[in-house]
Amino acid sequence: MSALTQLATALSAGKIDVIDLTHTLDPDFPVIILPPEFGQCARFRMEEVSAYDHRGPAWKWHNISMSEHTGTHFDAPSHWISGRDVPLGSVDEIPPEKFVGPVCVIDCSAETAQDDDFLMTPDHIRAWEAEHGEIPKGAWVLMRTDWSKRKGAAYLNMKEDGPHSPGPAPDAIRHLIEERDIVGFGTECVGTDAGQGMHLSPPYPAHFILHGAGKYGLQCLTNLDKLPPTGAVLMAAPLKIKNGTGSPLRVLAMVET
Ligand code: MN
Repeated sequence: MSALTQLATALSAGKIDVIDLTHTLDPDFPVIILPPEFGQCARFRMEEVSAYDHRGPAWKWHNISMSEHTGTHFDAPSHWISGRDVPLGSVDEIPPEKFVGPVCVIDCSAETAQDDDFLMTPDHIRAWEAEHGEIPKGAWVLMRTDWSKRKGAAYLNMKEDGPHSPGPAPDAIRHLIEERDIVGFGTECVGTDAGQGMHLSPPYPAHFILHGAGKYGLQCLTNLDKLPPTGAVLMAAPLKIKNGTGSPLRVLAMVET
């Protein structure tokens, strides 16, 4: 039997679950807030065009608007200055095979329950690999923090000195790229970087290093607690926006039951 026939048979037999790692697009879902001197990311908005009424008697539809970086979304290399000259760096140019691949989930939820500013280090990655095996080339690596369970103001966790949320240390991102050649890194928080990532070197290291290396980001993921550490397959295909730097998307994972 071919690999795809086996896959189709397993799906129809209920031996594979499809897990939705996506938050609902909702005007109330928080977006990243930058210092006021910078341009700001727009929340999701939905406007009714007609609803089986005089504006359209047999149909209902909406116009929607948002930032490329609203809700559960994908970051392309062109999002960051380090990736501005990366070939095929916009969402419309990325080869589609990059959107499907194996996924490793590094559980940092115990640490982030104790420390809002937790930084995942290469030692955390090595400890995970000692238990689960080496992260394969071309994998997506997702940092589980259970941050997606936070509601309202606790999600951005803004303080006087800015947002406080966990993320990867610069060395951890370098390790994932230089030693493991991952395809991308994903998080449950509003950005791939820690809330205080502006104080790291380089500032916002996940954005700077990932995108400079032509790698991708996923943020505002949910349901990472439903994924195994290894063995799932991720599907994350952004909208094909001309010269787009990112896109809201539906992120799915196939998991063996
Ligand atoms: Mn983004």
